[in-house]
Amino acid sequence: MDTVTAARMFDQAYVDGRFVTPHGSQVIDLVNPTRNEVIGKVTLADEIDTRSAVAAAKRAFKSFSRTTPQERMDFLQRLHQAVSRRMDDLVQATVLEYGAPQARAKGSNELAANIFLHFKQVLGEFAFATIAGRSKVVYEPLGVVGVFTPWNSSAGSIAIKVAPAIAAGCTVVVKPSEMSAMQTQVLMEAFHEAGLPAGVVNFVTGLGEIVGAELTRSPDVAKIAFTGSTPIGKLVAKSSLDTMKRFTLELGGKSANIILDDADFSKAIPMAVNACFLNNGQACIAASRLLVPENRLDEVKRLIVAAVENIKVGDPADPAVTIGPAASRKQYERVQDYIRSGIDEGAELVIGGLGHPGGLERGNFVRPTVFARVGQDMKIAREEIFGPVLSVLTYRTEAEAIEMANDSEYGLMAYVSSSDPERANRVARSLEAGRVLINTLSHDPLAPFGGFKQSGIGREGGVFGLREFLEPKAIITD
Ligand code: NAD
Repeated sequence: MDTVTAARMFDQAYVDGRFVTPHGSQVIDLVNPTRNEVIGKVTLADEIDTRSAVAAAKRAFKSFSRTTPQERMDFLQRLHQAVSRRMDDLVQATVLEYGAPQARAKGSNELAANIFLHFKQVLGEFAFATIAGRSKVVYEPLGVVGVFTPWNSSAGSIAIKVAPAIAAGCTVVVKPSEMSAMQTQVLMEAFHEAGLPAGVVNFVTGLGEIVGAELTRSPDVAKIAFTGSTPIGKLVAKSSLDTMKRFTLELGGKSANIILDDADFSKAIPMAVNACFLNNGQACIAASRLLVPENRLDEVKRLIVAAVENIKVGDPADPAVTIGPAASRKQYERVQDYIRSGIDEGAELVIGGLGHPGGLERGNFVRPTVFARVGQDMKIAREEIFGPVLSVLTYRTEAEAIEMANDSEYGLMAYVSSSDPERANRVARSLEAGRVLINTLSHDPLAPFGGFKQSGIGREGGVFGLREFLEPKAIITD
């Protein structure tokens, strides 16, 4: 691995309204996935740092939980402005540290900044007191929230948890991925600029087994808001139960994309390729299983090859690039293992395959890969690959397509393409997924987001997301 001389130091935590030197002393390399160069040194926080962040959040909760909705709407507005002001830095960090293509980095970080506005709107419309039966029901903020986020969507995963927490009157300790230290630094500075009361938002970057485990154990943390993999989510949920924490889990996916026979294939197939390869294929919502009518497979393969040949893989500093590198060497190897398993299990390699694209051997670049004639039981049809690898399966009838789509332990998203809205809606109603997108890849920030089955518990976004940070209390009088 090469080392550039100008590696930046990321050696601060943000606790109680101040930037502090962590007590933890372990230092890890921050590696640019495009060239595998060390671009930073990250000092990891430890259990002691975590405890002081939790203590600060607990102190802040006393008064923050009593602020008015209007005060919290003002804080959300300030957070939106502060993050928006740092947009260029945030985008640059996302491209450099994570390898996101420019347009994706811009889109996802702008969405992150706007999440504070969405929750300002939700908060303005929310009734904190209502009537049930003959009683008054009031919604109380839960307390201190531990926020866990992954490396593939840093600012967005943080904002979608911190914004509703603040809207509710909770305080937070954010534990971002240690692989996102550069994006975290920008966010910490922006949050500091926003001028919230000390201790309302705290950041401790450290390892899951250390910082994450301490947050999960702490009796002073009332809720864990987690985005990450299903195995780690289960672990966190299990240990959270010891102190009866509330938790929301946004986990993995293996989302099906059903192309019905009446769809416009010339639009639906290129869109299906994008739906799988977005964010370099490292997206929980990736439509990684494409279900097409058996008698249209040849046409589908032709359209796929044309779409994939149009993709530019490379250094995301180039604005024309639409697929950057895998986020780490480890992730690259993991994706290679899946491509190997697809070949070994007898799937038909339509395009792509093992190894780097020509001329891109230095970074963690994967060849955008599509397999056809994928069997339902193959690993590439069942497991989350988290890379630009698409599995095409065929069905004979609509009923079979629905059954195949639902034959998964996951249920985060589903996609349907059809020219018949009624039919598409009927199919959507039969799919076991938290969201179904019909003829679109668009996002609705006020609609609930989350998984059926092993894709998670709870919902993020809109009023559904806000309620996850509140506890209803019934007040019954004679
Ligand atoms: P991960 O599960 O490895 O890590 C997620 C977070 O948990 C990180 O902050 C990590 O440090 C922490 N963690 C790790 N071990 C821990 C432990 N023992 N105790 C407590 N915390 C621990 O996930 P990742 O590899 O960073 O991200 C990729 C995964 O995230 C994929 O599976 C993807 O599908 C999922 N994801 C889901 C969504 C969603 O909204 N559903 C969004 C983005 C990513």
